[in-house]
Amino acid sequence: MQKLSIAALISTVCTLALVPMAVQAETNEQQPIAIAIHGGAGTITRENMSPEREAQFKQALQDALDAGYAILEQGGESIDAVIAAIQLMEENPLFNAGKGAVYTYTGEHELDASIMRGDTLDAGAVSGVKTVRSPIALVRAIMENSRHVMLSGAGAEQFASEQGLERVENSFFNTEHRYQQLERALEQLREQEKTGDHIAYQSNWDPNFNMGTVGAVALDRQGNLVAGTSTGGMTAKQYGRIGDSPIIGAGTWADNSSCAVSATGHGEYFIRFHVAAAICSRVKYLGESIATAGEYVIHDTLLPAGGTGGVIILDRDGNVSMPFNTEGMYRGSKVNGKVTIGIYQEEE
Ligand code: ASP
Repeated sequence: MQKLSIAALISTVCTLALVPMAVQAETNEQQPIAIAIHGGAGTITRENMSPEREAQFKQALQDALDAGYAILEQGGESIDAVIAAIQLMEENPLFNAGKGAVYTYTGEHELDASIMRGDTLDAGAVSGVKTVRSPIALVRAIMENSRHVMLSGAGAEQFASEQGLERVENSFFNTEHRYQQLERALEQLREQEKTGDHIAYQSNWDPNFNMGTVGAVALDRQGNLVAGTSTGGMTAKQYGRIGDSPIIGAGTWADNSSCAVSATGHGEYFIRFHVAAAICSRVKYLGESIATAGEYVIHDTLLPAGGTGGVIILDRDGNVSMPFNTEGMYRGSKVNGKVTIGIYQEEE
């Protein structure tokens, strides 16, 4: 009797201890995991893309998705997934971020990046760094280990060194195809100066000069959203120009109560229309789906004003929306194991 009741007691205690764990595990298993990425938006058409180049981009997107998703699948955090995906693209010269970043007017590279967590609304951002190999790693360090949200230039580089992050020569980011873009852009700017058209970047500006910004949004088993963006900005940018990518709310936003967004496009417009936060505010306050909110901001607001580009959006249910108002946007998502990769318009 005595023995039995002890056995019963042990069994009850074990059951009580195990039930919450089982429920917890079940809850986590039911929580969708997802990652979406972009590699820039612009005039990308089948006609001006060779099959080899298309295959290279698709492979790069697949690799970045897989790297981020593997972390989520192992129960890792969305912040680590976002960083892993973006770092692969920063290292790939195909993209305008890290190696392969565009050139400034004076022939250098100035990199911008930002990151935001949807659970705490913590954020980190950096603009105009010239020697930090991985700007996305730097913004994470700024978010986690500094008293500030946004750092710039030399101070940000000093902080990177203090954090033990890798510094490189500015020439590390050089690529021949970006240099040729700079030459074409400078030629165009000189033409505009001659004709007195100083609205550079607005009229006749080839949007492909800036294309290739990278970004990622992810959702982990804990239900946390994170968004991150990294870029070299705009070809031939001058006077320490800062785009939308490092501006929290413009190029990057994450809030567990609405959605996570990373943007790419003509930064001046994305800043003025506060694109990433505007989308999530519509979801939060108007109860719109991410698809409706994204459509409204990208097509009905930005485009009529002259702003070109796109966004990737992810919500806590693992829904992904990737609207853009340009001919193409390098993009991809992996949701509960299902992969989608697209470049052109009709591939939604
Ligand atoms: N949004 C970036 C910027 O304006 C460029 C891009 O995404 O193409 O700096």
